[in-house]
Amino acid sequence: MTSRFALLLSLLAPAWLLLQFRRKLAFSKQCPRCKNPYPDRTSRPRWMKGRGDWLPLKAYYCTKCRHCFYRFDR
Ligand SMILES: [Zn+2]
Repeated sequence: MTSRFALLLSLLAPAWLLLQFRRKLAFSKQCPRCKNPYPDRTSRPRWMKGRGDWLPLKAYYCTKCRHCFYRFDR
C-alpha cells in the first residue's frame, strides 16, 4: 500500500513541478497569468545570481496580479 502511494507520488511530483515551472516561465514580455503587457523588471533572486548567470532568463514582476515570472531570452 505504501509503496503504491510512493510510486504515485514519484509520478505526480515531476508533473506538478513542470506545471509550476510553466506558470513561472514566459517567452514574451507579457505576464503569463493576466496578460499584462507591461510588467516591471525586477532583480533576479539570490540563488540565481551566483550560479545562474549563464541562464538566459530575465525576472519580471507583474504589478497587476503580483505574479513573478521569468522570461526566456535566448
Ligand atoms: Zn499579471
